[in-house]
Amino acid sequence: MPNYDFKCEDCHQSFELRMTIEEMEKGDISCIYCKSKKVKRLYNGFGFSSGKTASLNHSSPSSSSCSSCSSGSCSTCR
Ligand SMILES: [Zn+2]
Repeated sequence: MPNYDFKCEDCHQSFELRMTIEEMEKGDISCIYCKSKKVKRLYNGFGFSSGKTASLNHSSPSSSSCSSCSSGSCSTCR
């Protein structure tokens, strides 16, 4: 049975619920703190929204350094 992460839009608490897919699709979810039905599902439990952009930024070449000099002012730096 999978775990689902939710955030309540009324009391702004995030919580985790363990439920079946059938229960999930019925959408009958209420906040465990204030019993509000205004809960939003969070998708950060599987981690497919992080990592990719961070590694892309890291591998992009920076203008202040090059492989042929250490000062960053030779002709291949530009
Ligand atoms: Zn709540």
